[in-house]
Amino acid sequence: MRTPLIAGNWKCHTRLESARALARGLRETLDGLEGVEKVVCPPFVYLAAVWEALRGSSIRLGSQDVHWQDDVAATGEVGPRMLAELAEYAIIGHSERRHQFGETDEMVNRKVKAALATGLKPIMCVGEMLQERQAGLTEEVLVRQARGGLAGVEMPDGFIIAYEPVWAIGTGTPATGEDAAIAIAVIRREVASMFGQAKAETLRILYGGSVMPENIAEFVSKEGIDGALVGGASLKVDAFSVIVEMAARLKAGAS
Ligand code: PEP
Repeated sequence: MRTPLIAGNWKCHTRLESARALARGLRETLDGLEGVEKVVCPPFVYLAAVWEALRGSSIRLGSQDVHWQDDVAATGEVGPRMLAELAEYAIIGHSERRHQFGETDEMVNRKVKAALATGLKPIMCVGEMLQERQAGLTEEVLVRQARGGLAGVEMPDGFIIAYEPVWAIGTGTPATGEDAAIAIAVIRREVASMFGQAKAETLRILYGGSVMPENIAEFVSKEGIDGALVGGASLKVDAFSVIVEMAARLKAGAS
């Protein structure tokens, strides 16, 4: 039985006070909710404030990225040991990092290894661009990104991958539940070929891309979809809370 997970990616949004208020609001609505892991990923600069606001609650903290080294000359980067003092999860290889900042599969792989080595739980993102989907390359891209990101990794049980088709992120046009389930099956099959079927069965694969209260059920009602990575809708207490509550209810009903 895989524990479902809903993670909120706040991206480059909020300010100090609104980040605190969002964290406190989520704590009020979600703290007592069981059956689903709840994670928020604020900007680096607000991690400490949100950590403080969530201290002692069941809502976990994640970062939006991580460098692969600490204690090096890498201006602007934040190392895994620094992050592990505050955060439990780290989003790695988000499409905005890949496509706006030139992050490669090799860099993603280094980050995944470094995160695991310091006890951070990676949320490794993969997903095809619109042109790749239109050219029939979705499976090829997912296999390449999964293999590249996971090469030489000692995979723990419950490892997390987010399938995020780039064309669905922030567009208001999500994938269909069917299409997401097909892509996610490709990823699980690839992980099985690398690490064995038993390990792949423990793998948690999230869907991400314009998830909202109105469509979360379409995704989490699918057996192979273990939760969601949520961007825009994670910035509102009401919307994110409804998403988490529906995921918990539907996954509990399915088990
Ligand atoms: C994301 O940031 O990973 C994401 C899926 O964003 P949105 O939900 O806004 O599409």
